[in-house]
Amino acid sequence: MDNPTEINSVYWDEETKSWKYKMIKVDEYHGFIQCQYCHQPISHNVKTNDEFIVYVKCRCSRI
Ligand SMILES: [Zn+2]
Repeated sequence: MDNPTEINSVYWDEETKSWKYKMIKVDEYHGFIQCQYCHQPISHNVKTNDEFIVYVKCRCSRI
């Protein structure tokens, strides 16, 4: 798999009580952590301006 240059990260928004998405531009990619259930990525280790771990939704967390 090629290293992604952008990741559609997900985060919990307290104000709206819902999941929100945000595109993160990846400067350096250092791999991912996979879900122990569906073996899809649940977080990516990256180096960007201000973030180092970005979370994504795996197959078993669809809402
Ligand atoms: Zn999963």
